[in-house]
Amino acid sequence: MLQLYVPLNFLGFIYREIKQALLDIESMFAVLARDPEIKDKPGAPGLVVHGGTVRFENVRFSYEGDREILKGVSFEVPAGRTLAIVGSSGAGKSTLSRLLFRFYDISSGRILIDGQDIRDVTQSSLRAAVGMVPQDTVLFNDTIAYNIRYGRQDATDAEVEQAARLARIDDFIRSTPKGYRTEVGERGLKLSGGEKQRVAIARTLLKAPPILVLDEATSALDSHTERDIQDALDTVSQGRTTLVIAHRLSTVVGADEILVMADGRVAERGSHAALLAQGGLYADLWHRQQEAEEAALAASDVEATV
Ligand code: ADP
Ligand code: MG
Repeated sequence: MLQLYVPLNFLGFIYREIKQALLDIESMFAVLARDPEIKDKPGAPGLVVHGGTVRFENVRFSYEGDREILKGVSFEVPAGRTLAIVGSSGAGKSTLSRLLFRFYDISSGRILIDGQDIRDVTQSSLRAAVGMVPQDTVLFNDTIAYNIRYGRQDATDAEVEQAARLARIDDFIRSTPKGYRTEVGERGLKLSGGEKQRVAIARTLLKAPPILVLDEATSALDSHTERDIQDALDTVSQGRTTLVIAHRLSTVVGADEILVMADGRVAERGSHAALLAQGGLYADLWHRQQEAEEAALAASDVEATV
């Protein structure tokens, strides 16, 4: 039994290591896989942001061939408002965020920021205006300070620390061997998913973009970490146009509008209350999540009393 157990356990360890490496590689590919054909138009002006209204008009898109991923998606997020995007895996949610960065060009329709087609402005000005907090953050093999300052290279130490405080990661950093000068990444200190996400939030706070895209983690974080991250995300989205690929109930309930994606289309849209009353896809999703959450809560109660 022992003989069998050890190798299996070891395989489990290897599997987890490989899976973690793959997660990071996947998010790197998402960046590397962008279409190299995408170029600025000659003499393209910079994007001029007034309030940061984001508008998708009948957007159609395929990564390759004739397999259409987005089949005519329209929505508008008014300046400073929050749109939550929900829907099952593979529905096209992350694709929407890649298109807003213009990692790919769409096959038809338009994507506008404050009335300007994102294909008519420079990519550098577009990417300066949009901040992204991804689900899996790739850290550099460098210090924590370097990784946060990546959001804005000329930020002072005081600004880096202020961003870390707002992202609720300052206490953690101070508890590490060399504080802000602690090396992280493959060859340094390994951070948990939640810690990496908070580094990404600190980066984004430094960048202070008018438009924000958040990809919330699906994995169940412990409720304390979840609360911390939620508070940090709330801080970063204040006063910014926010598109959030939402998994947390609190985000969904608090959003100005909710878009329910299914198979490349907007299946339902509206407020939390209106969508619940409708009794469709959203209501199903909501009830399933609530049951899962109650089960998790019951399990943690048991743990607490043991
Ligand atoms: P979601 O975020 O809603 O889970 P995605 O937007 O990531 O969904 O993916 C939508 C569909 O596009 C999926 O079927 C996925 O397999 C496909 N897809 C995503 N990225 C690529 C890519 N780089 N090349 C080809 N197909 C892709
Ligand atoms: Mg996704």
